Amino acid sequence: MRSIASGLLSLVVLVCLDSGSWAADCASNPEAIGTSRVLTVDPGMQRRIGTVQFEATLPLRDHEVVLSFDDGPSPESTNKILDELAAQCVKATFFILGGMASQSPAILRHVRNEGHSIGTHTQTHPHLARLTFDEARNEIDQGIDSVRSALKDRDTLAPFFRAPYLETTSRIDSYLESRGLMLWGIDVDSDDWMFLTPEAIIARVTARLEKKGRGVVLMHDIQGRTAVALPGLLKELKARGYRIVHVVPPTETFIARVARQSIARIRYVHYRAIVAVTELSRVARAKGIELTRAGYSLFSRPSGKSAASAAPELPEAAKPPAASESTAARDSTTASGSLALDHPTVLASTSIPTPEPTAGAPANRTVTPEESSVPAPEKPSIATPKNAPAPKNPAATCEPNAIGTSRTLAIDWTQFKQIGSVQFPNDLPLKDHELVLTFDDGPMPPYTDKVLDVLAAHCVKATFFVVGSQATDSPDLLRRAKTEGHTIGTMTENHYELAGLTADEAQKEIADGIASSKEALGSASALAPFFRDPYLKTTSAAEAYLMSQRIIFWSSDFDADDWENISPDEVVTRALASIEDKRRGILELHDIQERTVLALPKLLAELKRRGYRIVHVTAKEM
Ligand SMILES: [Zn+2]
Repeated sequence: MRSIASGLLSLVVLVCLDSGSWAADCASNPEAIGTSRVLTVDPGMQRRIGTVQFEATLPLRDHEVVLSFDDGPSPESTNKILDELAAQCVKATFFILGGMASQSPAILRHVRNEGHSIGTHTQTHPHLARLTFDEARNEIDQGIDSVRSALKDRDTLAPFFRAPYLETTSRIDSYLESRGLMLWGIDVDSDDWMFLTPEAIIARVTARLEKKGRGVVLMHDIQGRTAVALPGLLKELKARGYRIVHVVPPTETFIARVARQSIARIRYVHYRAIVAVTELSRVARAKGIELTRAGYSLFSRPSGKSAASAAPELPEAAKPPAASESTAARDSTTASGSLALDHPTVLASTSIPTPEPTAGAPANRTVTPEESSVPAPEKPSIATPKNAPAPKNPAATCEPNAIGTSRTLAIDWTQFKQIGSVQFPNDLPLKDHELVLTFDDGPMPPYTDKVLDVLAAHCVKATFFVVGSQATDSPDLLRRAKTEGHTIGTMTENHYELAGLTADEAQKEIADGIASSKEALGSASALAPFFRDPYLKTTSAAEAYLMSQRIIFWSSDFDADDWENISPDEVVTRALASIEDKRRGILELHDIQERTVLALPKLLAELKRRGYRIVHVTAKEM
């Protein structure tokens, strides 16, 4: 009964709030100043506010005041301030310290439940300008994460930040902007941190407000004298004709949230469909069943544009070791007519003959990866790695004109926590024309084997970011990559988009991916503490978890678009164009794509011609 009664009560309160009748909430207090209006501000539109530090403040009308409270929550005074604000129907903005939130999470949730806006104020209230940039960023990030976890939800926190002592640097300002945070300064100081009487605080605030006419007032809810001064201050403000404005961020609408989560799920289903089709074709081929593209009409869609863009790929993909099979491939293409496939290369590959261990190239001709865009067919390990293990010493088979690996760069978490300019400000310490090759989303037969063949032929060491469930399915591929000296990192268990998950789900995805990869490798130490986020989309909760596990977060610098429906030549073109931007950095490729396998020999040859050098990144022994 009690819960029903309180449920009804909150419904009534909600209805009152919804209809904007603030006064209904504090009918018992006719002297209440109330909240005159709600102002929605978008950090994307106004990045910095407060005339004491910056040129502009919030778009307030004359005699409009915004109340803000810093440094809490505090068990001694925050509840008193909340009671007074409730009695006066006033909504304010609280800038919370992460450390204080962790100590008093219930009080913080009380602030939230009272309907106030909640921003953050770092973890421990340092002078940010006196810290290194990394330390300052950690303070900001940890503050946000602590407040979020104290709130036990990820949606309440407003993207509002106020710097301790109102001190920042231009680099910190840029970082806040990159995180979508609005930097709050102040218009009016209350000096409530000084040893003033409550009367003196009221006098200073009103005098300063009279000068400015409107603005954001800074107070501190950790100060007992502020709690004592607040009733008198609100009374004085009302008497002088000031009106209180409640500032809120734009909320993600229900529809926007459902759309975001749905897109994440569709991407995942799409990814699993490719995995399933690839596995199906592998099993079918092993049983001697020829699958044609028409057999996958389930995945087709009648789109002329896609058919056109898929077309150039097919003749090259069908480039034959054996003529009769190539005819079969052409026939199957004809049979499918103008059907366009979502992932034509993956599906087309089902009709591409993969050389059987016995089907070598003609003895009088040596096919090298440079000559042909398909991996040399004499390598029996391509189709059946289990039956024909990889060469023990890949260097022995290295091509004479191979680009090779110029040096090894060992990194550890204390130096590099987040790398790659697509998502982070920090880069690997690479020299001009130094590149790091990375392969995502595998291991997946037969492509990972083919990629490893090309890398071995060119004596190139790369980093593979593997999906845990894929590693479980193909442990032999993962072990081959490790045995041949490549670095292995992870990218979650199921390749979900992290932003579509709760903080707990995201943490489990990351942890499961690591556990599965370690098990597939058969050794915990074989796995590097390197992580890359699916779709290069992260959340601050995921970043905090990786930080807590001392795992280096890899983004990338360059993209080859090899996930897109483009030809292998276009992959090479786009990779080179992307790299030429900066001429040093991390290139992201995918070892689950036929077009990547076909593009790789040409890409490596062209990189060598242009004077690039490959750097192999490893985890430093700690
Ligand atoms: Zn402060």
